Amino acid sequence: MNNTKIKQSVKLITILGSTGSIGTQALEVIRDNPSIFKVSVLSALKNSELLIQQAREFKPETVVICDESQYSYVKDSLSDLKINVLAGEAALSEVAAYPQSDIVLTALMGSVGLKPTIAAIKAGKNIALANKETLVVAGEYITNLAKTHQVKILPVDSEHSAIFQCLVGEEQNEIEKIYLTASGGPFLGKDKNFLSSVKKEQALKHPNWVMGAKITIDSASLMNKGLEVIEAKWLFNLAVDQIDIIVHPQSIIHSIVQFTDGSMKAQMGVPDMKLPIQYALNYPDRLKNNFKRFNFLDYPNFSFQKADTETFKNLDLAFKSLRKGGNMPCILNAANEIVVEAFLKDKIGFLRMSEVIEQCMEEIGFIEKPQLADYLETDKHSRILAGELVTKSKV
Ligand code: MN
Repeated sequence: MNNTKIKQSVKLITILGSTGSIGTQALEVIRDNPSIFKVSVLSALKNSELLIQQAREFKPETVVICDESQYSYVKDSLSDLKINVLAGEAALSEVAAYPQSDIVLTALMGSVGLKPTIAAIKAGKNIALANKETLVVAGEYITNLAKTHQVKILPVDSEHSAIFQCLVGEEQNEIEKIYLTASGGPFLGKDKNFLSSVKKEQALKHPNWVMGAKITIDSASLMNKGLEVIEAKWLFNLAVDQIDIIVHPQSIIHSIVQFTDGSMKAQMGVPDMKLPIQYALNYPDRLKNNFKRFNFLDYPNFSFQKADTETFKNLDLAFKSLRKGGNMPCILNAANEIVVEAFLKDKIGFLRMSEVIEQCMEEIGFIEKPQLADYLETDKHSRILAGELVTKSKV
């Protein structure tokens, strides 16, 4: 037996969205494994202070600040280091295709991730996908493009990472169905009457996961699970009816695959996004770490229940959009981004969010076989209509 391990070469990582929740946790993983990972590019939407701090520590080749008004500030602050500073959203697509990078971690929020992800795939980069909206908006297009360019899309979303891990060694076996687990969010068990008056402060308190504001609201409204159904369809090439949701409030089982013989495989662990991030960045090899370990005696009972789609309409709307196909998930996603932003600014009530999304799905023109340009147009139209409906809403 040859037990000498071949030393792996350093992986160059581009992080799109390095100052958000996933971005900062990815940098923790990279910090703990300096002989395995090196940062090539960092980018931030507008948090220039944190971007500068990250750049000083990780010394990437390039940083991007999307908010162009902060370009000079970032540039001056890093002038003593040899770091290229770029500004503007278009620069994201430029750096996503940089030759000096092996993996692009897409940790941007919302459909803004679409164009840089396309650029990265076309440049042959493997994608560590945290930006689920990219697959929601244009899943068919993106997965086909990845196939053409022979790049891997490695899921960072914890449920999808779970499925992905369960499928290792099962390449020749057919999936009967998958169960995506859902925590149920902070409003599990609440009724419409309660939800009609909830405020963002309540919705932002997730019981198990620490995440950014947008995804935390999506978790409270169950839209996050809806988006994950669409994401799973494309990642694992499934029919809608092969995807089921099961509420599991402890968030220890991260998801389950059921094979054609009825056997089920689940992936478990303490909820910590660093684990799926690390798995994606170093796939297929696992890395040692000192993350908290699961203790059975802390959880004498696991429980499971049906998702309440009567009260939380968003999950239903997401399934509907996926059954309809075409540009419908894109309409749903764009409208959702607008209503969540409005909810976070106290401009719209919690339940009204679903109504606006549903109205956008009814009124925006349906396109059965959209091209890339159609997705971009649909995204724009749905945002405009949702914005108008928000303005007309009473809080
Ligand atoms: Mn998830």
